[in-house]
Amino acid sequence: MQHVCLVHDLIDEANRTWKSELLRQIFHAEDATAVLAIPLSLFPMSDQLRWGGTRNGGLATGVNLVKRNVQVDPICARCGKDRETVDHILLDCDFARATCWGRSIKRSLKVLQLPYTNWQLWIARNELIFNGTVSSPMEVNRKAEVQFGAFEQAQRKSKTPSGGPANSLSSNRIVSWAPPTMGTTLLNTDAAFKDGKRGLGYVLRSYIGLPLTTTSELAHFSSVLQGECLAIRSGLLQCIAECLECLMVESDSLEAIKLITTKETPPDIQPIISNIKFLITH
Ligand SMILES: [Zn+2]
Repeated sequence: MQHVCLVHDLIDEANRTWKSELLRQIFHAEDATAVLAIPLSLFPMSDQLRWGGTRNGGLATGVNLVKRNVQVDPICARCGKDRETVDHILLDCDFARATCWGRSIKRSLKVLQLPYTNWQLWIARNELIFNGTVSSPMEVNRKAEVQFGAFEQAQRKSKTPSGGPANSLSSNRIVSWAPPTMGTTLLNTDAAFKDGKRGLGYVLRSYIGLPLTTTSELAHFSSVLQGECLAIRSGLLQCIAECLECLMVESDSLEAIKLITTKETPPDIQPIISNIKFLITH
């Protein structure tokens, strides 16, 4: 079997698609299907660390695994005192308390650093269970601080003006509506869940409303918002293919349009938004 170390190893770079066969060899069917539903960026992007865990589920804790009929001990392997829930790992376990306490006496509590502490607590939990590695609360804090420091540094770098495509996108360029002027092409996009099927579509019209291209296709996406963003991306690609320059994008998803003009995007949609921003400026 092919050596898989990074997410990158699961991606067919030439076609920008998931290596579905490899995914199915490595993961359980349910997990492979979930990965395949994650849309990939059209262009290679550097990896980003995102905390996707939620208090009400998500992570494969002992309790969550038992709920999914996996035969494991649901009790916390660290303290043995309580059931291993997300709240227990990140808040209630003595180890989590010691970690958070260590952080607050060392410096004033930095709320922004909290996801990194949570992430490192989760990694420490996995290292204990899978490798038997015991780390101290101090080590967890140190790793979170290093990671947070790297994140802050990257943020500072990205704020220095470079004149690149990402900086040349201004919000007034796309989030406004005015009657189309002569020569403008209208791009209307939409996505829908219907009878268990997911599809996206777009219509390109001339400024007088004459349809130029109409496309609807089945697609993989995990939320309507993700689908709406995919529809915009597909429409923009078609506009570029047809060399249409002056364009007005209309989506019925205000949320999608807002995402394109703000910095914070959910991790499952971020690659698509990043592509859209790139396509708008080209
Ligand atoms: Zn515990």
